[in-house]
Amino acid sequence: MDGPLAAGAPAAGSEAQAHYLLNVMRRSPGDSVILFNGRDGEWEAAIASVSRKNVAFAPRVLRRAQAAEPDCWLVFALLKRTKTDLVVEKATELGVSRILPVLTARTQADHVNLDRLRAIAIEAAEQCERLAVPEIVPPRSLPALLAAWPADRKLFMADERRDAPAARLARGPSALLVGPEGGFTDAEVAAIGANQHVTRVSLGARILRAETAAIAGLALLLASDPSEE
Ligand code: SAM
Repeated sequence: MDGPLAAGAPAAGSEAQAHYLLNVMRRSPGDSVILFNGRDGEWEAAIASVSRKNVAFAPRVLRRAQAAEPDCWLVFALLKRTKTDLVVEKATELGVSRILPVLTARTQADHVNLDRLRAIAIEAAEQCERLAVPEIVPPRSLPALLAAWPADRKLFMADERRDAPAARLARGPSALLVGPEGGFTDAEVAAIGANQHVTRVSLGARILRAETAAIAGLALLLASDPSEE
């Protein structure tokens, strides 16, 4: 959901949700559904009305209050479609707040279907019972991303060259940067290293596939974030 959720306040769903409830789930007015919007917690609601293009809900009971989530982003060099889908699904399950595909010299793809990735993230959030869906931004070039990097956010660069300290729990606004299958070029490594917000981290002695590095790195950075307890 996008709009606010509150007891007794009608909430409008999207055309896609109307289609899903009417034609896939064969639901009708009065049936119960569970709603969340990433801000107002999890609500048990009734379907107030549903048609081919429109659905309205009547929120009834707050089931779970909105819990604070870790403020960690994933920046990953865009991979081929199935691997990018996997990374988005797993990063959502692991709790990232934002996903930033990045274009590098050895990136294997140059565009994504953002709607499809958002659908994957929504499904992953529902499946792991998260009450928020990470924002997914359009791909950007590595230089553009580094030039606009926010001053208050640490950027942990996953570096496979075996001389970086081990990745560990991140505190505060943070992000993980994972390179392409072919790795960053020397020039990119130099540009990343020159950025004052960057810390290089190791994910162990083995060279991991990029998608594995994203999952392993996030698991280490987000392992037991106290804000989730
Ligand atoms: N450049 C490497 C090569 O081709 O020999 C491999 C790149 S690796 C498949 C893809 C990305 O995963 C790397 O750019 C890095 O960000 C991350 N990665 C893989 N293994 C890692 C490790 N042991 N520690 C930290 N990062 C790792």
